[in-house]
Amino acid sequence: MYILVVNLGSSSAKTTLYDMENEAPLADCTVERIGLDNTHLSYSAYNGQVVDEKVDVTCCKDALKKIMVLLVDKAVGVIKDLKEIKGIGHRVVHGGESFSNPVMIDEEVKNIIKNCFELAPLHNPPNYEGIIACEELCPAIPQVAVFDTAFHQTIEKQAFLYGIPLRYYKNYSIRRYGFHGTSHRFVSLQTRKILQRENSKIIVCHLGNGCSITAVKNGKSVDTSMGFTPLEGLLMGTRAGDLDPAIIFYLERKGLSLNETDNLLNKKSGLLGLADIGSSDLRDILKAAEEGNKNAEMAVKVFIHRIKKYIGSYTAVLNGLDALVFTAGIGENSAIIREMVCRDLDALGIKVDQEKNKNNNQIISTEDSTVSVLVVPTDEALMIARDSVEVLNNIRENGHKL
Ligand code: ADP
Repeated sequence: MYILVVNLGSSSAKTTLYDMENEAPLADCTVERIGLDNTHLSYSAYNGQVVDEKVDVTCCKDALKKIMVLLVDKAVGVIKDLKEIKGIGHRVVHGGESFSNPVMIDEEVKNIIKNCFELAPLHNPPNYEGIIACEELCPAIPQVAVFDTAFHQTIEKQAFLYGIPLRYYKNYSIRRYGFHGTSHRFVSLQTRKILQRENSKIIVCHLGNGCSITAVKNGKSVDTSMGFTPLEGLLMGTRAGDLDPAIIFYLERKGLSLNETDNLLNKKSGLLGLADIGSSDLRDILKAAEEGNKNAEMAVKVFIHRIKKYIGSYTAVLNGLDALVFTAGIGENSAIIREMVCRDLDALGIKVDQEKNKNNNQIISTEDSTVSVLVVPTDEALMIARDSVEVLNNIRENGHKL
């Protein structure tokens, strides 16, 4: 079964076509800077064909159209006809409290995604546009929505409520939602397979540009560091993570407008703001720290300290820990960050084998570590493709016409 996975951002369209018989990606295609200058398309098929070109595309529908034309192109394409695609799986960031599982997209689902625009103003509108564009471009292909928030819907009230009057939750839906759910689900599933344990207490550290950490008990998310928005929690590339909300009032008194503070906390803080070397890329910051830049060194220390704090608190939330898992750009690639996070955590039973860590082994803990420490690459697109197959199969089995 061929499944196209679509991830629409505010100015980019990322797609992967999968053959789900063997979960093989057939082609990746991304259009970047949609609606800006220098709009660029990069396509790479697993048969070796590559396209890299400037394109004249101003909206997501045109970007998706370009991608679909390439998929069936005689020279570089991987399929003969779009009809071969049996489903389109969409990444949708926010599903509010309505979705704890992937769903087939219909009018009701689209309305709920629209109702969540307020909660995810940067993400849900382009996700929604992508759905409408695909409906228009290929109306016969069923579409599935996979929500970033869905995995965290198992989090209970004591962990998702903030300490403000309850009516703000009831009237304005203010609560912890959590994000990166598809990644945390994929990685925790892989970990349970690797450890061959159904019942397990796992902490997943998703460390990329955005960073979040999730406590997973027996396959279910029980707490996560991102909150009402992705701003809460760990220090990130450009986001501040946890901070005293009174800082926002104080900044207002110092003359910053709310929009300026929003921009400051989301786009100018985190590693970028603390290291102050003009980059939020951890590789640059580690290099600067190595060369003696004190601010860069301190930014890394704050980054590590925050992760350790969450590992400690989630070990308490889980009442123990079987596995600590690192994933995403930093988690998968940076042995030094993994080493620094795990250093002096032997009181929690966490011990890392330096050689295994340097070699990026799947299991990097020592033989006598009571907690297994793992490096598990995330694959959100594959998870969305798997989910799409499951939704389509369920619907087929239940006798619905596709
Ligand atoms: P996104 O959240 O945008 O998907 P990624 O998961 O690709 O991001 O992670 C990007 C981050 O991973 C960047 O901060 C980058 O510096 C970091 N990264 C990638 N490779 C390495 C590495 N070898 N060492 C340190 N950091 C790395």
